[in-house]
Amino acid sequence: MRTRNPVIIAGGGIGGLATALTLHQIGVPCVVFEAVREMRPLGVGINLQPNAVRELYDLGFTAAELDRVGVPALEWALVGLNGNDIYSEPRGLLAGYNWPQYAVHRGLFHMLLHQKTVERIGPEAVHLSSRVTGYRKNGDGSVSALVEHADGSTFEAHGALLIGADGIHSAVRAQMHPAQPPIHWGGAVMWRGTTLAKPIRSGSSFVGLGTHRHRIVFYPISHPDPQTGLAMINWIAEVTMDNAEGWKQSGWFRQVGIGDFIHHFDHWIWDWLDVPALIKQADSAFENPMIDRDPVPTWRDERVALLGDAAHAMYPTGSNGGSQAIVDARILGAAMVEHGVTPEALAAYDEKLCGPISQLILRNRGAGPFGLLNIVDERCGGTFDDIDDVIPPEERTAFMAGYKAAAGFAVEKLNTAPPTIPAGARVAAASVM
Ligand SMILES: Cc1cc2nc3c(=O)[nH]c(=O)nc-3n(C[C@H](O)[C@H](O)[C@H](O)COP(=O)(O)OP(=O)(O)OC[C@H]3O[C@@H](n4cnc5c(N)ncnc54)[C@H](O)[C@@H]3O)c2cc1C
Repeated sequence: MRTRNPVIIAGGGIGGLATALTLHQIGVPCVVFEAVREMRPLGVGINLQPNAVRELYDLGFTAAELDRVGVPALEWALVGLNGNDIYSEPRGLLAGYNWPQYAVHRGLFHMLLHQKTVERIGPEAVHLSSRVTGYRKNGDGSVSALVEHADGSTFEAHGALLIGADGIHSAVRAQMHPAQPPIHWGGAVMWRGTTLAKPIRSGSSFVGLGTHRHRIVFYPISHPDPQTGLAMINWIAEVTMDNAEGWKQSGWFRQVGIGDFIHHFDHWIWDWLDVPALIKQADSAFENPMIDRDPVPTWRDERVALLGDAAHAMYPTGSNGGSQAIVDARILGAAMVEHGVTPEALAAYDEKLCGPISQLILRNRGAGPFGLLNIVDERCGGTFDDIDDVIPPEERTAFMAGYKAAAGFAVEKLNTAPPTIPAGARVAAASVM
């Protein structure tokens, strides 16, 4: 097997590293070029849905490892402004999935992926300080990634295929779709942080409280400390504003003072929850607009394909951005098992995912599973005594079932689906260039 012509992966985030681990598992040499100088545990909470946890288990991650970076999610609940439940359902194993759902610290999970990549493929697998600025399709059927180091020096890396996993501001996507519209902002602003506090309800509940234009979401992303009972609680405070003039701040993600936004939640105090206290006890808070990108008709340009946020940056309302990046990596791997390290594999991957996931982007824009809050808001302004009078249980259940089917985490379908990549499957040596 020649290893001179690896698959090049632009971006060593969640999608890029899940791709590297998958390719290694199926016997395909690869190399990752990552822009940052140093891997650091950045970000706050994300959810790994059962469809993604299944793939992580198939990649050899253990529950004990995931328990070090997060906690199994037990419940998902929506609560109205009066503190009354609108909807709740069990999650993960309790919901009948064969795999748990995990609420994890994005940065710690990312570090775990990086550690595994280096352990399995070697320290040379991930090149830091290496920003991919574009690509060139070569006459000999290979592709070159144009790479710029932090010191300004540049070089070209030659590979059999290029996977653009370089996130929402993807340079690979910008070259593939030069006419794509700018980032789309619908008007919602999120302030995020983590606070050590006692978990409520099931002990590992995701709670979305408020209306679709003004809400707080919170959930634990660590097991509670046995001594204190305190867990790391991830919270996202969110307000929708007028977006007529576009996003005016200089960056997409910046640290802000608690005082900049806490007034939006001044009176959000119930006997079971004190939102201002939760926010005030955080070490730091970050502001970012809720942004996504308009879907594109294809994620592929011959030997180049997009993956993760580069392919389908979406609103986090469905908690599936990170999960989908992992699933993308596995479906790409399965396509290579079937078609080899070829443009046909990229075409099969694109054919399978681009259409349905583009629909999911638009569905999340329409509030995703939080759409139930829109319905409640429209029907009663968000305040009610008995939710059944506003939206009957069957309607609530049908709404959520529709979302889960679209997002690929319908229970029966997932439980009965064969593994995306059968255990021991390898790409035929002849097709590895
Ligand atoms: C620092 C950071 C913090 C985040 N925090 C959160 C969070 O708290 N909550 C949440 O829901 N989501 C967060 N996200 C987004 C979330 O990780 C993604 O939506 C999801 O995991 C999809 O993963 P991805 O690998 O496609 O993208 P990302 O995780 O964004 O990874 C993209 C990677 O590509 C690198 N990169 C970018 N451009 C280039 C380039 N031109 N060449 C080479 N490398 C490049 C980036 O440094 C990054 O490591 C964060 C992303 C980042 C990068």
